[in-house]
Amino acid sequence: MNPDDPSAEEKFKQVAEAFEVLSDNEKRPLYDRYGHEGLSGASFRDFSGMGLDDLFGGFGIFENIFNAFGGGTQARTSRSRARRGQDVRLNIDLSFDEAMKGIKKSIKVPNWAQCPVCHGNRIKKGESLIKCSTCGGVGEVRQVQRTAFGQMINITTCPKCRGEGEKLKKGTECETCNGVGKVKQTRTVEAHVPAGVDTGMRVVVQGEGRPGELGGPSGDLYLVVNISPHPFFQRNGAEILLEYPISFLDAVLGTKLTIPTINGDEKVTIKPGTESGKIITLRKKGAPNPNRSGRGDMHIGITVKFPSKLEKSVKQTLQKLQEEDEAKYVFRNNPGLAKYLGSQK
Ligand SMILES: [Zn+2]
Ligand SMILES: [Zn+2]
Repeated sequence: MNPDDPSAEEKFKQVAEAFEVLSDNEKRPLYDRYGHEGLSGASFRDFSGMGLDDLFGGFGIFENIFNAFGGGTQARTSRSRARRGQDVRLNIDLSFDEAMKGIKKSIKVPNWAQCPVCHGNRIKKGESLIKCSTCGGVGEVRQVQRTAFGQMINITTCPKCRGEGEKLKKGTECETCNGVGKVKQTRTVEAHVPAGVDTGMRVVVQGEGRPGELGGPSGDLYLVVNISPHPFFQRNGAEILLEYPISFLDAVLGTKLTIPTINGDEKVTIKPGTESGKIITLRKKGAPNPNRSGRGDMHIGITVKFPSKLEKSVKQTLQKLQEEDEAKYVFRNNPGLAKYLGSQK
């Protein structure tokens, strides 16, 4: 950006090199130990012999720098081998009521804890770790490759000691943890399950997964919710459905019903002449939304039930009504048919 100042180019190269080193865990130790000379000639990009065009065009270095400062991809600026602990998935069973109201639940999580005897060092007291023979204690394995661009050195973390440079000698393992450095331990975690969760949803409890290694942060605990069915409510997200059977007399004459909802009883009026399949909606009387405020609706599906057997007195009364009402009923529904039936009499 500053063609009149030759030192600007030099400064940019330094920045680019510094970034390249900082952003690579493997180069940092080399640079710290040997300075710039430790990097040139190895598999690293040497910026000292390049023009600015190379820097701009060749490696997308700007993209890397901007990502590091802008938070795009995470720059690995830490030299430690710290590893984040694994996430843990656990299924939890909730009753329908617990899911509707939300609940604080104590959950037993099978987990690992640092071995109390060796404190994570994996060895018996008085013994010590031996140098890893695969990497000679460096923690890295190097492979020389010949490419069109010259000799390249491929550096990878030692697979035997996982980069630690040391390993256990047979027979020196801590007897409590068998040389793992960790022991199994069940921990009790307090989880807050929000009102309105549904089957299959995940509740995250941060930092309650497996512990990290070498100072890394713990993983998270994911609780996968399973909700047992309610004896009469059905659910579709935040909508609650209730099938409500009424007698044919209530359907004909109308009535007032007491309807149970998630939040207590509600009075609902059934109009005279209500037919099977009618749906009555109670706005905002459904399940709470776990992610935002408010509730879904409740839908009452009315089914009209007819008795297969009637008491004698009831039957006689209805038969009398039937004889009186037949013509009227047909008139109401189909005048043309009524006319035809009338002409047949
Ligand atoms: Zn141990
Ligand atoms: Zn090794």
